Amino acid sequence: MSGSTAITRMPFDQALQSFEPVLGLETHVELGTASKMFCGCATEFGGAPNTQVCPTCLGLPGSLPVVNAVAVESTIRMGLALHCDIASWCRFARKNYFYPDMPKDYQISQYDEPLCFDGYLDVVVATDDGPREFRVEIERVHMEEDTGKLTHAGGDTGRIHGADYSLVDYNRAGIPLIEIVTKPIVGAGSLAPLVARAYVTELRDLMRALGVSDVRMDQGSLRCDVNVSLAPAGEPWGTRSETKNVNSLRSVERAVRFEIERQAAVLTDGERVVQETRHFHEDTGETTPGRSKEHAEDYRYFPEPDLVPVAPSEDWIEQLRSTLPEVPSARRARLRDEWGISDLEMQTLVNAEALELVEATIAAGVDQGAARKWWTGEFTRVANEQGVALEDLRVTPAHIARVEALITDGSLTDKLARSVFEGVLAGEGDVDQVIAERGLVVVGDDSTLMSAIEQALADQPDVAEKIRGGKVQAAGAIVGAVMKATKGQADAAKVRTLLLAHLGVEE
Ligand code: ADP
Ligand code: MG
Ligand code: ZN
Repeated sequence: MSGSTAITRMPFDQALQSFEPVLGLETHVELGTASKMFCGCATEFGGAPNTQVCPTCLGLPGSLPVVNAVAVESTIRMGLALHCDIASWCRFARKNYFYPDMPKDYQISQYDEPLCFDGYLDVVVATDDGPREFRVEIERVHMEEDTGKLTHAGGDTGRIHGADYSLVDYNRAGIPLIEIVTKPIVGAGSLAPLVARAYVTELRDLMRALGVSDVRMDQGSLRCDVNVSLAPAGEPWGTRSETKNVNSLRSVERAVRFEIERQAAVLTDGERVVQETRHFHEDTGETTPGRSKEHAEDYRYFPEPDLVPVAPSEDWIEQLRSTLPEVPSARRARLRDEWGISDLEMQTLVNAEALELVEATIAAGVDQGAARKWWTGEFTRVANEQGVALEDLRVTPAHIARVEALITDGSLTDKLARSVFEGVLAGEGDVDQVIAERGLVVVGDDSTLMSAIEQALADQPDVAEKIRGGKVQAAGAIVGAVMKATKGQADAAKVRTLLLAHLGVEE
């Protein structure tokens, strides 16, 4: 399905010496409402095909749409959180097109009268000179309905070309969507791929904080169209390409980067960039052409005659404004101060997607330093190795709390703790089960340690002599032998203290 092609690219750094990238991001978010946008059908994911449909979302003659009030409320809350103006009066529009994913032959959307407009979202990206803030301006936030899902069967590619027949499932048709469109983002230069990623991340976290969507990119409830163009420095903007339905944060970053490299090569060859939609391929990191771009006039937009305008009262808007939750940026600032960490340390947590987990771990009673250490160190490494998200690992904040308590009371050493987590991550059970199964206990009682120390001294009389003579550095060999004898389950510092006391040597 992916085109491993001979697309010519110019190295990224070289491309940026000649060209200035301009970005535009269109983000679709499926709202988490219980019912669809214009009818009462359920929105649950995964039902048998065409079981969550009714005359309205099937577009049968005589049926009439009714607006979902919760969807309007969610859109306004999103708009307010993005510092938008809210329209006091706006209409839906019919977007006409012929494709069987919408049974009506049109999609109800908003066109020139979006519910929310003119906002912004500030994002932070890490640079070599420290964190840098960008303001991404929002053009509009509007409401629309999702399309049905087509499955093209009988071919090798899953595309319509070469397929024997196509199946259509209208369960998704009519699920409320909001589309958030940025104004052109200029001036990011070589940071453009990171700015794009940071923007989608921030938008996702904002919607999560608002509770309006589950924003799962992997399940398609958040998807992003990535527009990129290049302009020779100091000249008007170039023609954009639009890479459709990019569905992971990493892919957003890669798609921008690839388009910059591709378009720079096209322009440098004296060719023109074609205005078209493109597909991103996860496996190769490349984009390939889709269809050439339709224009707004192709859709013959006109106001939807079956729906009354949406006219939210000022009271309602103010009431929604007053109940907005803490936004992610404010939350990060608050936690940074509460925990007494630096901007950079906070950025590290954010980049590792560990903020929520660390917060939960601290809430479970773990010291902030330890909570950060485990999540951004050991667990991030394991998650990267396994190619999964941190939150999908088997280890939980409660596990860390238990391990840390055992370290504090001397039952575990740091080394043993690692072994405990290794077991937990491998699915061997919870902390206490792993400790029992793997026999991970600190050999702590003095008499056991003392007999191991005496044995080690007897085995290495020359070393014992050196220590007695004041060569404290030589103690390492005895401590090492004791650790070996106890299979690493002794507390090395304690062994050392006992050893020196036994020999009557001062540190
Ligand atoms: P369409 O539906 O045709 O994609 P939209 O206005 O919904 O049009 O979205 C276009 C997106 O592309 C917006 O985010 C806009 O800011 C951005 N954009 C417009 N012109 C350019 C350009 N020359 N280069 C990059 N992005 C652009
Ligand atoms: Mg578009
Ligand atoms: Zn329906």
